[in-house]
Formats: sequence, C-alpha cells, structure tokens
Amino acid sequence: MFTSLKEGLEQIAFPSTCIGCGDVLAGRENLLCEPCIETRFDDPNPANNATCGGLILPDEVTFQDSMWLYDKDSVLQTIMRMLKYEGMSETGVFLGRVAAERILIRHIGKRIPDKTDAVLLPVPIHKRRKIKRGYNQARMIADGIADLLHIPVLPNDAVVRVKHTVTQTKFNFDKRMHNLKEAFELRRPELIKGRHVIIIDDVFTTGSTCFTLSAVIAPAAPASVGIFTIGMA
Ligand SMILES: [Zn+2]
Repeated sequence: MFTSLKEGLEQIAFPSTCIGCGDVLAGRENLLCEPCIETRFDDPNPANNATCGGLILPDEVTFQDSMWLYDKDSVLQTIMRMLKYEGMSETGVFLGRVAAERILIRHIGKRIPDKTDAVLLPVPIHKRRKIKRGYNQARMIADGIADLLHIPVLPNDAVVRVKHTVTQTKFNFDKRMHNLKEAFELRRPELIKGRHVIIIDDVFTTGSTCFTLSAVIAPAAPASVGIFTIGMA
C-alpha cells in the first residue's frame, strides 16, 4: 500500500517522458531513460583520480568527485533548474540514487577505508532560502545517496548557514571566498569528530562553497573530508 502510494506520487512529481530524449519512460524509469543515463552525459573523472581535472585541493580535503560534466544549456542544467527553482525536490533524490549506484558504490571503497565511519554533509542553505524553496536541494541529493549506500546524513543543525549570501555566479573566486567567510557555523562538532565526512552539493563550480565549508568543519577533527557533487562545471 505504502509503496504503491509512493510510486503514484513519484509519477505525479515526474514527467512521463524522458527529459533527455523525449521518449516515453518505461515502468521503473524516472526523469531520464536508461539509455540517456548511460550515454548522454560526460564523466568528468573517468580515471577516478582524486580530483576532476587536476584541481588543487585544500590540505584538509582528500578528494573531489562529480558524476557528470555540467554544461550551460544542457539537459543537466534543465534538471538542476527543476531541482532548484521549480520545486521538484524528488529530482534531487533521484540524482542522489543514480550517483550512488553509478559512481559512489564503486569509488567509495577506494576513498574511504571504513564506510561505517562515513557521514554525508549536504551544503547547508540559509533558512530564508529554505523557506522560499521549501527544501535544501543538497539535502535531497544526500538523502538519495543515503538510501542506497546506508551512510547517514548529518542532521541539519550540525553545520548551519548563518549568513544569507547573495547569488554568487558573477563573482570571481576571491570575491566568493570573501563573501562566504563566516557564512557557515559549526554547531555540533561531536558529530564530525573522527568521521569521514563527504560534502554533498549540486554543482561544483570554483569550489569556493565546498572549500569554505571544509575549512569550517576542520576544527572538529574529521578523519577525512571529501567532496561529491552531481555536476562539474
Ligand atoms: Zn532518454
């Protein structure tokens, strides 16, 4: 009963045709058909290196990985718009599940020796933005990953966003870092101490947000900090 109700809700929330190619979706498919998931997107890290594209990471960050290359005017941008601006929170859960199945399930053993010590940290958003959007999109992605990998998501009050930052897309790296300074506040360091923390976000652009967040949680002495995003800009 519960499962069929949930499936029914998902059918209402998702379109019945593939966002990528327009084909009618088969029974278990959601949002994207299997062929589109397999072939439409580019892997930004095919060799499974510690970073996508040789990025230099801050000392406390051990890896940075993404599922798909994020191009402007692409299918992935359309999906991200649905997730961030059209209230389709289930899109995030879907992307998280796909990422867990395709990428994380294979890579996580290489990155993190003991999965039982791992926790997911979705990049927090300010409460004002959350009220406007209705949810934190990074949290939705983390929930999808957690579903399949059985890695817990840190509670929302572990790290909070205390400053409402303006949209950053037009700023350069230094300006973004400056803008983000003191935007995050570590509230429950005991939940992070000794854990392998994986920061989760929708799109990795310059890294300013994730790197600022990793610096904010560093004093809690995590065992390691990694970054995983759906898109790599
Ligand atoms: Zn398709």
